[in-house]
Amino acid sequence: MFNSKMVRLGRERSAIRELYEYGSLRKAEIGEENVFDFSIGNPNVAPPAAVSEEICRLTRDIPPQALHGYTSAPGLFEVRRAVADYIQNKFGAPMSADLVYMTCGASASLAIALSAILEAGDEVIVPVPYFPEYSVFVEQAGGVLVPVCTDEKFHLDVGAIGAAITEKTRAVLVNSPNNPTGAVYAEGEMRALGALLKARSALREKPILLLADEPYRELCYVAPPIFPMSVYENTVVLYSFSKSLSLAGERVGYVAVSPACSEAEELFAAVCGAGRYHGYVCAPSLFQRVVGSALGLSGDLGEYRRNRDLLYGALTEAGYECTVPEGAFYLFVKSPEADAAAFSERAKRYELLLVPSDTFGVSGYVRISYCVSRATIERSLPAFRALIESYR
Ligand code: PLP
Repeated sequence: MFNSKMVRLGRERSAIRELYEYGSLRKAEIGEENVFDFSIGNPNVAPPAAVSEEICRLTRDIPPQALHGYTSAPGLFEVRRAVADYIQNKFGAPMSADLVYMTCGASASLAIALSAILEAGDEVIVPVPYFPEYSVFVEQAGGVLVPVCTDEKFHLDVGAIGAAITEKTRAVLVNSPNNPTGAVYAEGEMRALGALLKARSALREKPILLLADEPYRELCYVAPPIFPMSVYENTVVLYSFSKSLSLAGERVGYVAVSPACSEAEELFAAVCGAGRYHGYVCAPSLFQRVVGSALGLSGDLGEYRRNRDLLYGALTEAGYECTVPEGAFYLFVKSPEADAAAFSERAKRYELLLVPSDTFGVSGYVRISYCVSRATIERSLPAFRALIESYR
Protein backbone atom coordinates (compact mmCIF):
# COMPACT_ATOMS: atom_id res chain seq x y z
CA MET A 1 0.00 0.00 0.00
CA PHE A 2 2.92 2.31 0.67
CA ASN A 3 6.48 2.47 -0.54
CA SER A 4 7.66 -0.97 0.51
CA LYS A 5 11.30 0.03 0.83
CA MET A 6 10.39 2.82 3.25
CA VAL A 7 8.07 0.58 5.25
CA ARG A 8 10.91 -1.90 5.58
CA LEU A 9 13.37 0.78 6.70
CA GLY A 10 10.86 2.21 9.16
CA ARG A 11 10.06 -1.18 10.64
CA GLU A 12 13.63 -2.45 10.81
CA ARG A 13 14.99 0.56 12.71
CA SER A 14 18.70 0.70 13.46
CA ALA A 15 20.04 -1.72 16.06
CA ILE A 16 21.52 1.27 17.90
CA ARG A 17 18.18 3.10 18.07
CA GLU A 18 16.43 -0.14 19.05
CA LEU A 19 18.72 -0.57 22.04
CA TYR A 20 18.46 3.13 22.90
CA GLU A 21 14.63 2.92 22.94
CA TYR A 22 14.84 -0.23 25.06
CA GLY A 23 17.13 1.70 27.45
CA SER A 24 14.63 4.56 27.76
CA LEU A 25 11.85 2.13 28.73
CA ARG A 26 14.10 0.25 31.11
CA LYS A 27 15.20 3.49 32.81
CA ALA A 28 11.54 4.41 33.37
CA GLU A 29 11.01 0.97 34.95
CA ILE A 30 14.02 0.62 37.26
CA GLY A 31 15.49 4.11 37.49
CA GLU A 32 17.94 5.92 35.26
CA GLU A 33 20.93 5.26 37.52
CA ASN A 34 20.40 1.49 37.32
CA VAL A 35 20.72 1.21 33.54
CA PHE A 36 24.17 1.42 31.94
CA ASP A 37 23.28 2.79 28.59
CA PHE A 38 26.28 2.63 26.24
CA SER A 39 24.11 2.40 23.15
CA ILE A 40 24.16 5.74 21.37
CA GLY A 41 26.83 8.28 20.44
CA ASN A 42 25.11 11.23 22.06
CA PRO A 43 27.88 13.49 23.42
CA ASN A 44 27.68 14.05 27.19
CA VAL A 45 30.39 16.71 27.28
CA ALA A 46 29.03 20.27 27.25
CA PRO A 47 29.44 22.35 24.09
CA PRO A 48 32.36 24.81 24.35
CA ALA A 49 31.42 27.94 26.35
CA ALA A 50 31.84 30.02 23.19
CA VAL A 51 28.94 28.12 21.60
CA SER A 52 26.49 28.85 24.41
CA GLU A 53 27.63 32.48 24.50
CA GLU A 54 27.17 32.83 20.76
CA ILE A 55 23.65 31.37 20.94
CA CYS A 56 22.76 34.01 23.57
CA ARG A 57 24.39 36.80 21.60
CA LEU A 58 22.70 35.87 18.34
CA THR A 59 19.24 35.54 19.88
CA ARG A 60 19.73 38.92 21.59
CA ASP A 61 21.31 40.90 18.76
CA ILE A 62 19.84 39.62 15.50
CA PRO A 63 16.21 40.39 14.63
CA PRO A 64 14.07 37.23 14.61
CA GLN A 65 13.27 37.19 10.91
CA ALA A 66 16.93 37.44 9.97
CA LEU A 67 17.91 34.91 12.62
CA HIS A 68 15.23 32.30 12.14
CA GLY A 69 14.22 32.87 8.52
CA TYR A 70 15.26 30.88 5.46
CA THR A 71 18.81 31.20 4.24
CA SER A 72 19.85 30.46 0.68
CA ALA A 73 19.66 26.74 -0.12
CA PRO A 74 23.39 25.93 0.29
CA GLY A 75 23.57 28.04 3.45
CA LEU A 76 24.56 31.54 4.53
CA PHE A 77 27.35 32.75 2.32
CA GLU A 78 29.34 34.23 5.22
CA VAL A 79 29.24 30.87 7.00
CA ARG A 80 30.28 28.98 3.87
CA ARG A 81 33.13 31.46 3.50
CA ALA A 82 34.12 30.97 7.14
CA VAL A 83 34.22 27.19 6.58
CA ALA A 84 36.32 27.62 3.43
CA ASP A 85 38.72 30.02 5.18
CA TYR A 86 39.01 27.65 8.10
CA ILE A 87 39.90 24.72 5.84
CA GLN A 88 42.48 26.81 3.97
CA ASN A 89 44.10 28.24 7.10
CA LYS A 90 44.03 25.13 9.24
CA PHE A 91 44.93 22.48 6.69
CA GLY A 92 46.53 24.49 3.91
CA ALA A 93 44.11 22.97 1.41
CA PRO A 94 42.68 25.32 -1.20
CA MET A 95 38.93 25.73 -0.65
CA SER A 96 36.25 28.00 -2.00
CA ALA A 97 33.03 29.09 -0.29
CA ASP A 98 31.30 28.27 -3.58
CA LEU A 99 32.03 24.59 -2.98
CA VAL A 100 30.70 24.38 0.59
CA TYR A 101 27.12 23.23 1.18
CA MET A 102 25.71 23.53 4.70
CA THR A 103 23.68 20.46 5.72
CA CYS A 104 21.70 18.90 8.56
CA GLY A 105 24.56 16.88 10.06
CA ALA A 106 26.73 14.13 8.62
CA SER A 107 23.71 11.97 7.79
CA ALA A 108 22.47 14.60 5.38
CA SER A 109 26.01 15.17 4.11
CA LEU A 110 26.29 11.46 3.31
CA ALA A 111 22.85 11.16 1.71
CA ILE A 112 23.50 14.24 -0.40
CA ALA A 113 27.03 13.34 -1.50
CA LEU A 114 26.13 9.76 -2.41
CA SER A 115 23.06 10.85 -4.36
CA ALA A 116 25.13 13.49 -6.10
CA ILE A 117 27.74 11.08 -7.39
CA LEU A 118 26.18 7.65 -7.86
CA GLU A 119 24.46 6.23 -10.91
CA ALA A 120 22.51 2.98 -10.57
CA GLY A 121 24.85 0.06 -9.88
CA ASP A 122 27.90 2.18 -9.00
CA GLU A 123 30.01 0.69 -6.24
CA VAL A 124 31.17 2.35 -3.04
CA ILE A 125 34.04 0.68 -1.20
CA VAL A 126 33.76 0.91 2.57
CA PRO A 127 36.28 -0.47 5.09
CA VAL A 128 34.59 -2.60 7.77
CA PRO A 129 33.36 -2.12 10.39
CA TYR A 130 31.37 0.94 9.35
CA PHE A 131 28.59 3.26 10.51
CA PRO A 132 25.42 1.24 9.79
CA GLU A 133 23.52 4.02 8.05
CA TYR A 134 26.05 3.91 5.19
CA SER A 135 24.16 0.98 3.73
CA VAL A 136 20.91 2.96 3.80
CA PHE A 137 22.47 6.02 2.15
CA VAL A 138 24.30 4.02 -0.52
CA GLU A 139 21.18 1.99 -1.30
CA GLN A 140 18.89 5.03 -1.56
CA ALA A 141 21.32 6.50 -4.10
CA GLY A 142 21.09 3.34 -6.21
CA GLY A 143 24.62 2.24 -5.33
CA VAL A 144 26.13 -0.97 -4.07
CA LEU A 145 28.16 -0.99 -0.86
CA VAL A 146 31.31 -3.08 -1.19
CA PRO A 147 32.74 -3.91 2.24
CA VAL A 148 36.51 -4.43 2.51
CA CYS A 149 38.49 -5.76 5.42
CA THR A 150 40.73 -3.68 7.66
CA ASP A 151 43.82 -4.90 9.53
CA GLU A 152 43.85 -6.40 13.03
CA LYS A 153 43.74 -2.92 14.60
CA PHE A 154 40.96 -1.80 12.24
CA HIS A 155 43.29 0.37 10.18
CA LEU A 156 43.13 0.57 6.39
CA ASP A 157 44.17 -2.41 4.34
CA VAL A 158 45.06 -0.48 1.19
CA GLY A 159 45.84 -3.72 -0.66
CA ALA A 160 42.31 -4.97 0.05
CA ILE A 161 40.86 -1.70 -1.21
CA GLY A 162 42.93 -1.99 -4.38
CA ALA A 163 41.72 -5.55 -4.90
CA ALA A 164 38.09 -4.49 -4.49
CA ILE A 165 38.23 -1.78 -7.17
CA THR A 166 36.28 -2.63 -10.33
CA GLU A 167 35.22 -0.58 -13.32
CA LYS A 168 32.03 0.17 -11.37
CA THR A 169 33.82 1.66 -8.38
CA ARG A 170 32.78 5.28 -7.99
CA ALA A 171 33.97 6.08 -4.49
CA VAL A 172 35.82 4.93 -1.42
CA LEU A 173 34.12 6.07 1.79
CA VAL A 174 36.34 6.36 4.88
CA ASN A 175 35.63 7.49 8.41
CA SER A 176 38.48 8.54 10.69
CA PRO A 177 38.41 8.82 13.68
CA ASN A 178 36.24 5.79 13.28
CA ASN A 179 32.86 4.78 14.59
CA PRO A 180 32.74 2.04 15.91
CA THR A 181 36.44 1.20 16.44
CA GLY A 182 38.04 4.50 17.49
CA ALA A 183 40.82 3.95 14.91
CA VAL A 184 42.47 7.10 13.54
CA TYR A 185 44.07 6.44 10.17
CA ALA A 186 47.74 7.41 10.14
CA GLU A 187 49.17 9.82 7.59
CA GLY A 188 51.05 7.00 5.85
CA GLU A 189 47.98 4.87 5.25
CA MET A 190 45.96 7.86 4.02
CA ARG A 191 48.78 8.80 1.64
CA ALA A 192 48.91 5.20 0.41
CA LEU A 193 45.17 5.32 -0.18
CA GLY A 194 45.53 8.63 -2.05
CA ALA A 195 48.30 7.17 -4.23
CA LEU A 196 46.20 4.09 -4.97
CA LEU A 197 43.17 6.14 -6.00
CA LYS A 198 45.31 8.42 -8.13
CA ALA A 199 46.91 5.48 -9.92
CA ARG A 200 43.65 3.62 -10.43
CA SER A 201 41.79 6.75 -11.59
CA ALA A 202 44.42 7.73 -14.15
CA LEU A 203 42.92 5.79 -17.05
CA ARG A 204 39.27 6.22 -16.18
CA GLU A 205 36.75 8.60 -17.62
CA LYS A 206 35.40 9.30 -14.13
CA PRO A 207 37.97 9.32 -11.31
CA ILE A 208 37.24 7.38 -8.14
CA LEU A 209 36.15 9.83 -5.45
CA LEU A 210 37.36 9.77 -1.87
CA LEU A 211 34.48 10.52 0.50
CA ALA A 212 35.75 11.39 3.96
CA ASP A 213 33.10 11.22 6.68
CA GLU A 214 34.61 13.27 9.48
CA PRO A 215 32.23 13.96 12.37
CA TYR A 216 34.94 13.04 14.91
CA ARG A 217 37.81 15.01 13.33
CA GLU A 218 38.63 16.99 16.48
CA LEU A 219 38.10 14.06 18.87
CA CYS A 220 41.55 12.55 18.67
CA TYR A 221 43.91 11.18 21.36
CA VAL A 222 46.79 10.68 18.92
CA ALA A 223 48.23 12.99 16.26
CA PRO A 224 45.28 14.49 14.35
CA PRO A 225 44.52 12.82 11.04
CA ILE A 226 45.85 14.35 7.86
CA PHE A 227 43.23 16.35 6.00
CA PRO A 228 41.99 14.01 3.23
CA MET A 229 42.10 16.71 0.54
CA SER A 230 45.86 16.84 1.14
CA VAL A 231 46.33 13.24 0.01
CA TYR A 232 44.06 13.07 -3.03
CA GLU A 233 42.52 15.65 -5.29
CA ASN A 234 39.13 14.05 -5.97
CA THR A 235 37.97 14.34 -2.38
CA VAL A 236 34.69 15.38 -0.79
CA VAL A 237 34.64 16.02 2.96
CA LEU A 238 31.43 15.26 4.85
CA TYR A 239 31.45 17.03 8.16
CA SER A 240 29.15 17.38 11.14
CA PHE A 241 29.21 19.51 14.28
CA SER A 242 27.18 16.87 16.14
CA LYS A 243 30.15 15.41 17.99
CA SER A 244 32.88 18.07 18.06
CA LEU A 245 30.56 20.80 19.39
CA SER A 246 28.14 18.40 21.14
CA LEU A 247 25.29 19.72 18.97
CA ALA A 248 23.93 16.37 17.77
CA GLY A 249 20.30 17.42 18.09
CA GLU A 250 20.76 20.71 16.28
CA ARG A 251 21.48 19.01 12.94
CA VAL A 252 24.23 20.97 11.30
CA GLY A 253 27.25 20.04 9.18
CA TYR A 254 28.58 20.58 5.68
CA VAL A 255 29.72 19.01 2.43
CA ALA A 256 33.00 20.48 1.10
CA VAL A 257 34.02 19.62 -2.46
CA SER A 258 37.73 20.02 -3.13
CA PRO A 259 38.38 22.61 -5.86
CA ALA A 260 40.95 20.11 -7.17
CA CYS A 261 38.19 17.59 -7.99
CA SER A 262 37.75 17.03 -11.67
CA GLU A 263 34.58 18.88 -12.75
CA ALA A 264 34.32 20.39 -9.26
CA GLU A 265 31.66 22.89 -10.26
CA GLU A 266 29.45 20.25 -11.82
CA LEU A 267 29.94 18.03 -8.80
CA PHE A 268 28.86 20.90 -6.56
CA ALA A 269 25.81 21.47 -8.77
CA ALA A 270 24.95 17.80 -8.21
CA VAL A 271 25.40 18.32 -4.45
CA CYS A 272 22.94 21.24 -4.60
CA GLY A 273 20.58 19.11 -6.69
CA ALA A 274 20.76 16.25 -4.23
CA GLY A 275 20.13 18.66 -1.33
CA ARG A 276 17.06 19.89 -3.16
CA TYR A 277 15.91 16.37 -4.05
CA HIS A 278 16.14 15.21 -0.43
CA GLY A 279 14.66 18.41 1.01
CA TYR A 280 17.93 19.28 2.74
CA VAL A 281 17.98 22.93 1.73
CA CYS A 282 18.78 25.74 4.13
CA ALA A 283 20.32 24.04 7.16
CA PRO A 284 19.06 25.41 10.54
CA SER A 285 19.82 29.10 10.26
CA LEU A 286 20.57 29.91 13.91
CA PHE A 287 23.01 27.03 14.10
CA GLN A 288 24.67 27.81 10.79
CA ARG A 289 25.69 31.09 12.42
CA VAL A 290 26.70 29.41 15.66
CA VAL A 291 29.00 26.89 14.01
CA GLY A 292 30.43 29.54 11.71
CA SER A 293 31.83 31.22 14.80
CA ALA A 294 33.07 28.00 16.43
CA LEU A 295 35.05 26.27 13.69
CA GLY A 296 37.79 24.04 15.04
CA LEU A 297 36.50 24.12 18.62
CA SER A 298 35.41 21.03 20.52
CA GLY A 299 34.03 20.05 23.90
CA ASP A 300 36.41 18.91 26.64
CA LEU A 301 38.32 16.06 25.03
CA GLY A 302 39.89 15.35 28.43
CA GLU A 303 36.54 14.04 29.70
CA TYR A 304 36.32 11.52 26.88
CA ARG A 305 39.94 10.55 27.38
CA ARG A 306 39.39 9.93 31.10
CA ASN A 307 36.32 7.81 30.30
CA ARG A 308 38.30 5.88 27.71
CA ASP A 309 41.17 5.22 30.09
CA LEU A 310 38.90 4.18 32.95
CA LEU A 311 36.83 1.84 30.84
CA TYR A 312 39.68 0.40 28.79
CA GLY A 313 41.75 -0.24 31.93
CA ALA A 314 38.92 -1.83 33.91
CA LEU A 315 37.63 -3.95 31.06
CA THR A 316 40.97 -5.34 29.96
CA GLU A 317 41.81 -6.07 33.60
CA ALA A 318 38.54 -7.97 33.91
CA GLY A 319 39.50 -10.08 30.87
CA TYR A 320 37.81 -8.33 27.95
CA GLU A 321 39.80 -7.91 24.73
CA CYS A 322 39.89 -4.64 22.82
CA THR A 323 42.28 -2.23 21.11
CA VAL A 324 42.90 1.21 22.60
CA PRO A 325 40.69 3.75 20.81
CA GLU A 326 42.75 6.52 19.19
CA GLY A 327 39.83 8.87 18.72
CA ALA A 328 36.03 9.32 18.85
CA PHE A 329 34.27 7.92 21.93
CA TYR A 330 33.74 4.24 21.23
CA LEU A 331 35.34 1.08 22.53
CA PHE A 332 35.05 -1.95 20.26
CA VAL A 333 35.21 -5.01 22.46
CA LYS A 334 35.55 -8.64 21.43
CA SER A 335 32.52 -10.67 22.37
CA PRO A 336 33.39 -13.64 24.62
CA GLU A 337 31.07 -15.76 22.47
CA ALA A 338 30.96 -15.85 18.68
CA ASP A 339 27.41 -14.52 18.55
CA ALA A 340 27.66 -10.84 19.51
CA ALA A 341 23.87 -10.45 19.48
CA ALA A 342 23.58 -13.22 22.08
CA PHE A 343 26.29 -11.53 24.14
CA SER A 344 24.45 -8.20 23.93
CA GLU A 345 21.25 -9.96 25.07
CA ARG A 346 23.07 -11.50 27.99
CA ALA A 347 24.56 -8.08 28.86
CA LYS A 348 21.02 -6.73 29.18
CA ARG A 349 20.51 -9.04 32.15
CA TYR A 350 23.22 -6.96 33.86
CA GLU A 351 21.53 -3.74 32.64
CA LEU A 352 24.44 -3.15 30.25
CA LEU A 353 23.40 -1.86 26.82
CA LEU A 354 26.09 -2.78 24.27
CA VAL A 355 25.55 -2.67 20.50
CA PRO A 356 26.32 -5.96 18.70
CA SER A 357 28.79 -5.49 15.86
CA ASP A 358 26.76 -7.24 13.16
CA THR A 359 25.08 -3.91 12.52
CA PHE A 360 28.54 -2.48 11.69
CA GLY A 361 29.21 -5.19 9.14
CA VAL A 362 31.39 -7.54 11.23
CA SER A 363 30.58 -10.28 13.68
CA GLY A 364 32.00 -10.99 17.11
CA TYR A 365 32.24 -7.57 18.81
CA VAL A 366 30.16 -5.07 20.70
CA ARG A 367 30.42 -1.30 20.62
CA ILE A 368 30.46 0.68 23.85
CA SER A 369 29.74 4.42 23.54
CA TYR A 370 31.61 5.98 26.41
CA CYS A 371 30.21 9.49 25.95
CA VAL A 372 28.40 9.06 29.26
CA SER A 373 29.03 10.41 32.76
CA ARG A 374 31.99 9.08 34.68
CA ALA A 375 29.58 8.04 37.43
CA THR A 376 27.73 5.80 34.95
CA ILE A 377 30.99 4.11 33.99
CA GLU A 378 32.04 3.67 37.62
CA ARG A 379 28.68 2.17 38.58
CA SER A 380 28.75 -0.13 35.52
CA LEU A 381 32.09 -1.80 36.29
CA PRO A 382 30.77 -4.48 38.69
CA ALA A 383 28.18 -5.38 36.02
CA PHE A 384 30.90 -5.72 33.38
CA ARG A 385 32.90 -7.96 35.73
CA ALA A 386 29.88 -10.12 36.55
CA LEU A 387 29.06 -10.41 32.85
CA ILE A 388 32.46 -11.79 31.87
CA GLU A 389 32.49 -14.00 34.95
CA SER A 390 29.27 -15.57 33.70
CA TYR A 391 31.30 -17.06 30.81
CA ARG A 392 33.83 -18.78 33.08
N1 PLP B 1 28.92 9.23 10.31
C1 PLP B 1 29.38 8.64 11.41
C2 PLP B 1 30.65 7.86 11.31
C3 PLP B 1 28.70 8.73 12.62
O1 PLP B 1 29.19 8.12 13.70
C4 PLP B 1 27.50 9.47 12.67
C5 PLP B 1 26.72 9.57 13.91
O2 PLP B 1 26.94 8.91 14.90
C6 PLP B 1 27.05 10.09 11.50
C7 PLP B 1 27.78 9.94 10.34
C8 PLP B 1 25.81 10.90 11.50
O3 PLP B 1 26.05 12.11 12.15
P1 PLP B 1 24.97 13.24 12.33
O4 PLP B 1 24.37 13.06 13.67
O5 PLP B 1 25.72 14.51 12.27
O6 PLP B 1 23.97 13.10 11.25
